[in-house]
Amino acid sequence: MATRVLIAGGGVAALEAALALRELGEGRVSVEMLAPEPEFWYRPLAVAEPFDLGEVRHFDLSELAAAAGANFLPGALAGVDVGGRVVRTSAGGAVPYDILVVACGADPALAVPGALTFRGPADTQRIRGLLDEIVAGQVARVAFAVPWGAVWSLPLYELALMTAAYIDERGLGHVELTIVTPEDEPLQLFGRAGSEAVRQLLERRGIVLHTGSWPVEFVEGELRLFPEEKVASDRVVALPRLRGPRIDGLPQTVDGFLAVDAHGRVHGLTDVFAAGDITNFPVKQGGIAAQQADAAAEMIAADAGADLTPQPFRPVLRGLLLTGRQPRYLRHELTGGAGDVSVASPEPLWWPPAKIVGRYLAPFLGAYAGVESPPEAPGAPDAVLVEVELERGQIGGLTALGLETAVTSEGEDRAIVADAMSTDPLVVAPEDTLGEVAEKMRARDLGSALVGDYGRLIGILTSRDLLRAFAGRVHPSEARVREWMTAEPVTVSAATPIEAAVTLMTEYGFHHLPVVDDERPVGVLGLRQAARQTQSRPRIGLGF
Ligand SMILES: Cc1cc2nc3c(=O)[nH]c(=O)nc-3n(C[C@H](O)[C@H](O)[C@H](O)COP(=O)(O)OP(=O)(O)OC[C@H]3O[C@@H](n4cnc5c(N)ncnc54)[C@H](O)[C@@H]3O)c2cc1C
Repeated sequence: MATRVLIAGGGVAALEAALALRELGEGRVSVEMLAPEPEFWYRPLAVAEPFDLGEVRHFDLSELAAAAGANFLPGALAGVDVGGRVVRTSAGGAVPYDILVVACGADPALAVPGALTFRGPADTQRIRGLLDEIVAGQVARVAFAVPWGAVWSLPLYELALMTAAYIDERGLGHVELTIVTPEDEPLQLFGRAGSEAVRQLLERRGIVLHTGSWPVEFVEGELRLFPEEKVASDRVVALPRLRGPRIDGLPQTVDGFLAVDAHGRVHGLTDVFAAGDITNFPVKQGGIAAQQADAAAEMIAADAGADLTPQPFRPVLRGLLLTGRQPRYLRHELTGGAGDVSVASPEPLWWPPAKIVGRYLAPFLGAYAGVESPPEAPGAPDAVLVEVELERGQIGGLTALGLETAVTSEGEDRAIVADAMSTDPLVVAPEDTLGEVAEKMRARDLGSALVGDYGRLIGILTSRDLLRAFAGRVHPSEARVREWMTAEPVTVSAATPIEAAVTLMTEYGFHHLPVVDDERPVGVLGLRQAARQTQSRPRIGLGF
């Protein structure tokens, strides 16, 4: 019998997975696609739409699914019973599976209060409104802000550059445009050559660049940065911070992401894979989502008996920067090579330059709906090719909080986490049942248990998680900790200043913070003990 694969999601990763499984499955898999929205949105050109340079396209998802060989089921994934291999939908339905692929994307959340948050097609009109205000002379200063934690910053650069071109082409008076980003270099992920090209381009367009700055909030005509700077502005356009949708029964990180191995398998779960923005890979981009879907599909097809050797996910980042005049092509390999070995060349390396480069999806959409593909390569003089190998650690560096440095930089003598933490945490195993752990927590009157695997902290289970599980009617002696814990929790070290820990707990709404020593759980900091140690809190939030 064919392996029954259920793909939850109807976006880039879901369609790419369905297409790859059709291609690679040799008829050994059947595919169903579960998604709440009836349409597939092709979002990259959302940035061009307000400028009338492109149009966001959408397609009937059930038709696309059928063309990709999958059966479409309307509905949203709400929970998973991994033991019983059945999902629960938000409408209360149940769908059985042999293999589940979670490709539910991520939700945009407000990151810079007071700013216009650009989430995609839904905000086209708001950007048009901003352009109208510029034309009417009501707005003279616009800041474009990349918040901390948003690693796919390309759309914001595109918006800034297209705004500059729009103003220039209409001969409007001087409008001050500024980009504020926590990156050390503009579009840092694309490597040295890409950053340099973008820096020059920004200079040519007169866009002021603030790197290494964290935008926090926009109030009273000021974009406030962490820790102290300010940028005077009439309007601020910011990217959102992304969060994974909460799905009961899956070990998500505090931001709702799923930690996966190199073949897309969710850590600790045999039959559940994930791909795309919902995974904990820090770069949230369509091409990356498609590559993750391919890696998962290869593994699933091989497990089903197809004759292939599954290749691990090897992230290659490709982007097409729309500047309002001439597209720039950027390519970058994120393969963990040694250092930054970027190359620049006037010729594009790859073709066709579909904005979302999926091995199966790009030609499929091209054939099905005639989606983009400029007829020929851009004029050589203005095209920038960048090819860089970057270590995974460098990507991680973009998302790290840098909190301790930021909070300790004032050099004051402050209380640290070691002064207030409990040093005898309850450490449980991922395979323990919820019933066992609940009993231990009750006996010791604790609100949380740390989850350790071979001595390494891999999760935290709190009384809130237990309530969530029991409300979902799981059986205490069947449900396992690994399904309900928060995976890869935010941690601090014993030497972290208490103020930094309290800020973290308040920002995220945590009551318990694991304390680690080189990934080993050594304690738990409770909000109450921490608050007792600290008299005052930092004046502003950190915006991560
Ligand atoms: C403005 C903008 C411009 C972009 N430009 C580019 C670009 O130029 N190039 C590029 O490569 N990437 C670009 N991206 C990023 C790219 O769109 C995403 O990285 C990509 O779509 C991620 O694919 P995904 O399948 O993980 O999620 P999505 O494509 O967002 O799809 C998620 C799917 O899951 C469904 N879903 C949600 N919740 C549930 C649930 N509970 N159960 C089942 N289904 C659910 C949704 O309805 C949707 O169908 C851009 C993004 C934006 C917002």
